[in-house]
Amino acid sequence: MDQNGVFANLIKQLTKLPGVGQKTAQRHAFAILKMFPQEAREIGQAIIDIKERLIFCSKCRNISEVELCLICSDPRRDRTKILVVEEPSTVYAIEKTGEYRGLYHVLLGVISPLDGVSPEDIHIKELIDRLADHEVKEVIVATSPNMDGETTALYLSKTIRPLGVKVTRIALGIPVGIDIEYADEVSLVRSIEGRREL
Ligand SMILES: [Zn+2]
Repeated sequence: MDQNGVFANLIKQLTKLPGVGQKTAQRHAFAILKMFPQEAREIGQAIIDIKERLIFCSKCRNISEVELCLICSDPRRDRTKILVVEEPSTVYAIEKTGEYRGLYHVLLGVISPLDGVSPEDIHIKELIDRLADHEVKEVIVATSPNMDGETTALYLSKTIRPLGVKVTRIALGIPVGIDIEYADEVSLVRSIEGRREL
């Protein structure tokens, strides 16, 4: 097979996805080859759409198709709680459980002294700004239970507590050292329920 041809190129592109090695990519490429042209086009278009049409919510930095995401603009959400996560993928996982009714704030990163990421580099200031109207009574920190996640949690606690807002940390259910986005949904729900004050 032509190693520079279109088929080899599709395999090469697919291996950029997490968990997709050479063999899986080949299987997917052959599956796409068998599809009707319209089906294959829909896959391609869906990929283009998320890159062109998704933006970050102006309030919580979750992914959204409109300026204010569906969670921030939903009047039924509990506006006294903000759950702080590192990435939109965690919002997605928690929302799938349907158990949390508060709001979110996505930092789009964590404080990492080793990697040179300081508090100003992630969306902490925007979180502090959201507390100004005194509607929020509790900030629940759901960063990963690893070194950077803990550093970020402590920094948030130190910064937010003086403002008179309770800061809690998720606890049970999340294995130590893992990335929170890989936690299963039951563990996520338990960890929110078992949160403790920071
Ligand atoms: Zn939002």
